[in-house]
Amino acid sequence: MKQKYDYVIVGGGLAGASAIEGIRSLDRNRTVLLAGADPNPPYDRPPLSKQLWTGKKKPEQIFLHDDAWYREAGVDLRLGTTVRELDVSDKVIVLEGGERIEYGKLLLATGGQPRRLTAPGGDLPRIRYFRTYDDYRWLRERATPGARAVVVGGGFIGSEIAAALSLNGVKVTMIFPEPYIAQRVFPEGLGRAVQDEYRSRGVTVLAGDIPVSFEETGKAIVVRTREGRDLEADFAVAGIGIVPGISLALGAGLASNGVVPGGGIRVNEFLATSNPDVYAAGDNASFPAKALGDMIRIEHWDNALAQGKAAGRNMAGAGEPFEYLPYFFSDLFDFGYEAAGLVDARLPTRAVWKKENETGVVYYQRDGVVKGVMLCNVWGKVDEARRVISAGARVEETDLQTAIAV
Ligand SMILES: Cc1cc2nc3c(=O)[nH]c(=O)nc-3n(C[C@H](O)[C@H](O)[C@H](O)COP(=O)(O)OP(=O)(O)OC[C@H]3O[C@@H](n4cnc5c(N)ncnc54)[C@H](O)[C@@H]3O)c2cc1C
Repeated sequence: MKQKYDYVIVGGGLAGASAIEGIRSLDRNRTVLLAGADPNPPYDRPPLSKQLWTGKKKPEQIFLHDDAWYREAGVDLRLGTTVRELDVSDKVIVLEGGERIEYGKLLLATGGQPRRLTAPGGDLPRIRYFRTYDDYRWLRERATPGARAVVVGGGFIGSEIAAALSLNGVKVTMIFPEPYIAQRVFPEGLGRAVQDEYRSRGVTVLAGDIPVSFEETGKAIVVRTREGRDLEADFAVAGIGIVPGISLALGAGLASNGVVPGGGIRVNEFLATSNPDVYAAGDNASFPAKALGDMIRIEHWDNALAQGKAAGRNMAGAGEPFEYLPYFFSDLFDFGYEAAGLVDARLPTRAVWKKENETGVVYYQRDGVVKGVMLCNVWGKVDEARRVISAGARVEETDLQTAIAV
């Protein structure tokens, strides 16, 4: 392996892998290294909580590229390798074993780490913080019909994992502090309807409660809750959000967005940090979203894909501003949705339903202007949703009936 590369990518997730494509779309020749802590080559995370549990995908299908692709792209992969330090004055990264590698341009595509439970016993081996392919394999081994699971968290990961386990015959108890599932994105009526669906499928949903301790007793784990319940299970899974991977940037003195809770590495419209040779992209980056008029950090697949590619192109000299409207998707049992723009349940919403809380479109508005759209079991309309938001028009109730046909 070389000790000097023109481009170094830290992090072998979606943003890191997409950056290779971005770089190679402009520069076929200069040297590229991708160093990632995960021992597996870059893969897609969404199937870990969805299609791998419904049989729609097999594990080998989640990998973004095969070995030949990386060889043909002329990229050196250092997997299972954690980068411990970044020195921006010498333009060097230091690997965990002490090895030093020089870079010309560097991308921090370090994603995020699962947030940990702070309650006593939160580190017990029967609790898994769900993020990686290895976490999926751990869970798969234990998810036998009749097994008992406690799922902590009612956001994206918690609700998807609870549905996935339940579909595979596991007896699931969900616990989370909010009054209903995915409260951050669903308006109340929809959130409660989805929650009812979970209950009708046999999932025990303990909304408005939290674990206060975990204890292992022989072959089980007991989760004690604030409301005084003792939940016995074979294993527990936690999906309570991520902490963005900003430690290398902070250690190197690069500006972060630290004043914002959960803030990421601050980048400009070209995805460069305060150091012009260091870029950031994906779950860890706070970037200016012109269409929404804010600095935002997004933890979604489509953003990691687009931003990684854009960062790669800019590292290779494209000089293109990153203009992007957020997009994401999720599947919860039979309820699937796609969402574009600012989908934040704190905003006033209006909905047009073909079938209430099942099939229809929810519009999220700020000052009477549509800022976000959620397409519930409505497919193939994402471009229309983007157009409605980008138009920035004030959309009155009567117009909503025709804005996107359901
Ligand atoms: C189970 C699951 C389901 C999801 N489902 C959806 C979905 O349905 N829709 C959607 O829009 N989004 C979904 N997401 C979110 C989406 O997958 C993420 O937004 C995306 O993976 C972010 O990509 P990333 O490359 O920024 O970060 P990551 O995928 O986290 O990759 C970062 C990589 O950097 C590595 N790394 C970190 N620090 C270092 C270091 N110091 N040295 C070396 N390597 C390091 C990590 O090991 C990791 O491999 C899901 C996420 C999960 C976990």
